[in-house]
Amino acid sequence: MWIDCHSHTKYSNDNWLEPVDLVRRAKRLGLDGLVVTEHHSVEASEPVEQIGKQEGLLVLRGVEISTDRGHLLAFGLQDDSWNIWGRNNYIPLRELIDRANALGAICVPAHPYREIGLGSLLEGLLDLKGIAAIETHNGGNPDYINDLAVASCEIMHLPSMGGSDCHKLNAVGRCATEFSNPLATWPVSSSRCARAHAAARTTRAFTGKSSYGGRDPNDQMVASEPVGGAGAVWCTGAVEHQWLASGSSGRRLIA
Ligand SMILES: [Zn+2]
Ligand SMILES: [Zn+2]
Repeated sequence: MWIDCHSHTKYSNDNWLEPVDLVRRAKRLGLDGLVVTEHHSVEASEPVEQIGKQEGLLVLRGVEISTDRGHLLAFGLQDDSWNIWGRNNYIPLRELIDRANALGAICVPAHPYREIGLGSLLEGLLDLKGIAAIETHNGGNPDYINDLAVASCEIMHLPSMGGSDCHKLNAVGRCATEFSNPLATWPVSSSRCARAHAAARTTRAFTGKSSYGGRDPNDQMVASEPVGGAGAVWCTGAVEHQWLASGSSGRRLIA
């Protein structure tokens, strides 16, 4: 199943995207689900989850947190009690990852090679411990920035993830993540997190075309050759995650 793992609505307070429009757009594109990752708050997206239920689309909730070393996505936090630092853009990344992991969440650096001022993670990514995956395909990044994340992901033997990072309607679904197994909820217990760490490998890419670059006539996203393949207008993430599977490939990707 294909899930856009990084999306924002007006509840991020930096855009005007109505949640119902986001959800309907994702459905129309053929996505199987969305993860809403409002800035700094898990609780803010509660109404979006409800809209997902009404519209018949899986909507999961994560959070995107600004830190002293770039942005971090956390999945599996139940509420905003993770935040002992207040709302600021320089939450200490190391402490945040440790706290989120202790709360049973998994952490994924978002667009790690995007320069966002003094605090960008960049190649510091390669030494970062405690992360479950890397966002290799961010819909707001040019390809060369995503390519750096892909290369790091391969070096670190971590799962990769894709998400649009949409703040407006025409960006929804630019990147997504393929999960090989039905996904109903994020892993929240440490044992399930451990399994999430255990095995995932890149399989194939998924290429959507921008809404103004010409989608196919049915306005569906189209699976195609791996990222970087000819004709890709917007590269999208492609990963086989075995979050919930038994009988994984057995590769241990995090020591
Ligand atoms: Zn970000
Ligand atoms: Zn974002």
